[in-house]
Amino acid sequence: MKMSKLFVQTLREVPSDAEVISHQLLVRAGYIRKLTSGVYNFLPLMWKVLKKVENIIRDEMDKAGAQELLMPFVQPKELWEESGRWGAYGGELMRLKDRHGREMCLGPTHEEIITSIARDGLKSYKQLPVNLYQIQSKFRDERRPRFGLLRGREFIMKDAYSFASSQEDLEKEYQNMWQAYTNIFNRCGLATKAVQSDSGAIGGNVSHEFMVITDTDAGENDVFYCDDCDYAANSNHAISKLPQAVIDGAGYFNKTEIVSTPNCHSIEQLAEFLKIQPTLILKSLVYIIDKKPVIALIRADKAAEETKLLNAVGGLEIRIATSEEIAEVMANHGFKAVPGFIGPKGMSDLTIIADETVKDMKNFVVGVNETDVHMVGANLSDLGITDLKYADIRLVEAGEFCPQCGKPLKVTRGIEVGNIFQLGTKYSKPMNGVYLDTDGIAKPYIMGCYGIGVTRTAAAAVEAHHDEYGIKWPLAIAPYHVIVVPVSEKEEQQVAVANKIYEELRSSGIEAVLDDRDERPGVKFKDADLIGFPFRITVGKTIAEGNVEFVTRSTNEKLVIKPEEAISRVIEAVKNIK
Ligand code: ATP
Ligand code: MG
Repeated sequence: MKMSKLFVQTLREVPSDAEVISHQLLVRAGYIRKLTSGVYNFLPLMWKVLKKVENIIRDEMDKAGAQELLMPFVQPKELWEESGRWGAYGGELMRLKDRHGREMCLGPTHEEIITSIARDGLKSYKQLPVNLYQIQSKFRDERRPRFGLLRGREFIMKDAYSFASSQEDLEKEYQNMWQAYTNIFNRCGLATKAVQSDSGAIGGNVSHEFMVITDTDAGENDVFYCDDCDYAANSNHAISKLPQAVIDGAGYFNKTEIVSTPNCHSIEQLAEFLKIQPTLILKSLVYIIDKKPVIALIRADKAAEETKLLNAVGGLEIRIATSEEIAEVMANHGFKAVPGFIGPKGMSDLTIIADETVKDMKNFVVGVNETDVHMVGANLSDLGITDLKYADIRLVEAGEFCPQCGKPLKVTRGIEVGNIFQLGTKYSKPMNGVYLDTDGIAKPYIMGCYGIGVTRTAAAAVEAHHDEYGIKWPLAIAPYHVIVVPVSEKEEQQVAVANKIYEELRSSGIEAVLDDRDERPGVKFKDADLIGFPFRITVGKTIAEGNVEFVTRSTNEKLVIKPEEAISRVIEAVKNIK
């Protein structure tokens, strides 16, 4: 490809809406252009990268025994009603009607469709296990599309679904996919960590996410991990052992009573005023889950984890209540307390969830829905709660202890590029996806599902591989392997040698670009670095001595070598792509 013909427009300015580096660089280097919020055009360079990522995924999925198919992007409501998700899937599901008024949605995921395909075709245990996958566009009307390709509304995903006749076979396939994912991300030049995770709206029991670890904002997940053993979990699923703490207030309060705590709106103010540790305070938080208020109780030195709380209630959507909503809850129960003084007393008509840490608390401090006072030396029995449910709703913090080996946990951030789920019968049961087992009885398939964000993986590769000048594509997914740059279009010898190198590379099957533009060398080098060609062969003055400059983008190492050697280095590197 000649640079003068390559469809690419590089920008010097950082686009104003691009917060993370992959978004900035992919726009600046001419890979993507936004069409509308969370929806991007994948320009020729981007499309080459995405096809390479897709082909690595295809290769490994096929090797792992999965079979590719393609399902429609538009899906009928009826199947989603069968699974129960038409009502359950929130605002992310883009619903529409056809000209006959029939309701449809744009596929955010394909469990319903694949289950309908399976139940038509997989009727006997003899046909199982089977794993079917596709690579396709998905649409999710994300609440906050952001970070370019990392969280789009329309994006490309590889989604695979397995069908088995036993839990054992499902687990085997789960391990098989785990290995395939490890291979895929390695080949894409990405180091990933597999972490335990919440199963979310997809449902099921066991699941792992493959995270690209980063210390930037692009990592939307907090990952807790242990250096001493293999424990690693998303914060929405992580658990920990807590250090010893004072959780019995007997030494501080000799009876249960209401005391004045003027202006103690925060835990810090209250602890200081009463001269106690926050571990002796029971914190009451008001959340809105599926439009209803829910009270969460937790030891005041700890924070609640919203996904855990949502799961404990069995809800679909959660957010913290606004101060107006808290005032309304108070009014509905005949109270007037302001935040800071709220408590579970007199709220038994609401769902009340207590974190497991609350079980062991004794003689603690708690709000009683009256401003400027708290109850001290209190126990749960003093609060008249009729229906209290305990669950782990606590957000783990770094420094707490590993649930497996007891060493301190660490925290980092991760970009989730893929995940694997053991679904069980969550879809096959309601949708009557059954096969005839050896005993002649019809049984629901035991399913798994396995996703990889193709577009997100490409963006994560940019997050992981770049410098201040631009992208440093891993060779296996770079749009082109090498750029050949004559320093001056006016120097005949330079142009002639550059052309010859370019032709030789191309005839050896190398994806090469020749920068034939009549531009200053600085402009050519800047573009080459920004676009991120893994190798650059520069033909400049040193050609008088028979040498070219050979630059490896990943290290920015420069060598002055013979053209033949530069060519063979590129050929060798490309040959070594796994
Ligand atoms: P997230 O927690 O990031 O929203 P998810 O749990 O909703 O992800 P899945 O439904 O399991 O993700 O989708 C499988 C894969 O698709 C994810 O691992 C991710 O790589 C990719 N993906 C999901 N949502 C998006 C999105 N909005 N934009 C780009 N890729 C996405
Ligand atoms: Mg999501």
